[in-house]
Amino acid sequence: MDNPLTTSIILSKKLSAEYKTIKAMVRIYCRSHHNTHGLCADCISFLDYAFTRLDRCPYGEEKPTCNKCPIHCYKPAEKKQAKTMMGFAGARMLLRHPIMAVDHLWREYIPVPKEVPKANSNRHLRLSDSKKIQTDPTYD
Ligand SMILES: [Zn+2]
Repeated sequence: MDNPLTTSIILSKKLSAEYKTIKAMVRIYCRSHHNTHGLCADCISFLDYAFTRLDRCPYGEEKPTCNKCPIHCYKPAEKKQAKTMMGFAGARMLLRHPIMAVDHLWREYIPVPKEVPKANSNRHLRLSDSKKIQTDPTYD
């Protein structure tokens, strides 16, 4: 059910953890709203979009949580979709994936970097020097 995009591109450790959290939340939402086994086509394309945004996030490994980020890189439609899904899945995450949920909540308290770093996105690093990307062996 994974798109080739999300298996051929490697995200750095923190970004890949964030992607897993988003994926878990989308799964929770999709299961109770779209009545499909696994993920429906819409939710898969949303995840691809989220994955691309993570890969291109200018903060890279210093990425703040999306809630606190001053950039707002999502397009309006996807932003709305994210808000709806995260709103529904947020509290449920504490029950189903407590470690992921608590880790994300805790990260809300980390200050946003004062300046957007230059050339720090995952995409930039993986295209310029793939060795800089720290891979996560638990990435699925
Ligand atoms: Zn769905």
